[in-house]
Amino acid sequence: MNRRDFYEMLGLKPGASAENIRKSYKRLARKYHPDLNPGDGSAEERFKAISEAYDVLGDPKKRKIYDQYGYYSDQIPPDGPAASGPGYAGFDFSGFDLSGADYPGAGGRGDPQRGFGSSFRDIFSQFFTRDSGEPSPQGAARPGTDIEHHLRIGFWDAIRGVKARISVVHEEACPTCFGTGSGTGGPVPCPECSGAGKVRRPAGVLQFTVSCPQCGGVGRLPRGCPTCGTRGRVGKTDSFDVRIPAGVQTGSRIRLAGKGNAGLHGGRPGDLYIVTEVGSHPYFDRRGDNVYTAVPVTITEAGLGAKIEVPTLDGRAALKVPPGTQSGQKFRLRGKGAPSLRSKQRGDHYVEVQVRVPRAADERTRELLRELGRLHPENPRRGLNKKT
Ligand SMILES: [Zn+2]
Ligand SMILES: [Zn+2]
Repeated sequence: MNRRDFYEMLGLKPGASAENIRKSYKRLARKYHPDLNPGDGSAEERFKAISEAYDVLGDPKKRKIYDQYGYYSDQIPPDGPAASGPGYAGFDFSGFDLSGADYPGAGGRGDPQRGFGSSFRDIFSQFFTRDSGEPSPQGAARPGTDIEHHLRIGFWDAIRGVKARISVVHEEACPTCFGTGSGTGGPVPCPECSGAGKVRRPAGVLQFTVSCPQCGGVGRLPRGCPTCGTRGRVGKTDSFDVRIPAGVQTGSRIRLAGKGNAGLHGGRPGDLYIVTEVGSHPYFDRRGDNVYTAVPVTITEAGLGAKIEVPTLDGRAALKVPPGTQSGQKFRLRGKGAPSLRSKQRGDHYVEVQVRVPRAADERTRELLRELGRLHPENPRRGLNKKT
């Protein structure tokens, strides 16, 4: 967790007063308390994160360390040797000889443990093994990124829910360096300044010598990991089963917390989002939680009324077509639609009636239709030609 994270988690800026930290914590803790959000995993996660942030920021001693180093560890004494000054990862190296001989594994003069106090060793090892690696001079925790994985499923699987096996390539902590991105054997000379700690910058006709931005003036960089360079992460394919709930639609997102890319420097992993794409069905047209079906009826059924059988997601259902039903009229079968992801209720099933007119190939049928015309001489298009 870096400095921004803890303050940001509490909705505050660095430098917030102790009073504001306490108030923010109380307000957020009430909002995300697990008792008030039963069954809501993300609220619980949030509550834990807020508590963790307050545990540090709410304690003046811990907060001081956090503000200084960008993270809190009880291994850092409040008044350690690194208590002042800017520098690499918030650490002032200016008072120490950082030639390679002083690093463990670099050979040279003597036992480094004897040269530095044990508190310095603690910070030192944290800095060069756990908290370094990325070119950024801040070895702060960074959360992993989210991944989106698209999954095609069939129409019926979306209605009933399904267990799907998926394979996702995600980045995980490098097994060689345990996610630190640094190798063993002490730091290497900075390639930017060739170990000098200073670089020349032209400014018009003049040249300035400035502190090297790559190494922060130290002249050395942590040694990279032989497996991952300095990334601290490696790509890996993971296969696992995912339960796709009943009711997903094209574009539904299912979140699998922590299954995304690994974080850096102890940052939490990102999330994996499964985005579903649902196949179609020859006669069930699904829109949201509702299902639409077109059902043909004869002119006699539409005119005289009939009880017809229609297909639904639950099998066949009876539908009463009232006398005088027009083509295109829709009937609703309440609760016969698709299951809803948001509520326990199901959508509706709309049946659109399409009146099929018989082909009048024989004289008898033509005579009957003419007879019908004589009985109903009204013009159905009356009103359509009126000027508006
Ligand atoms: Zn590595
Ligand atoms: Zn440099």
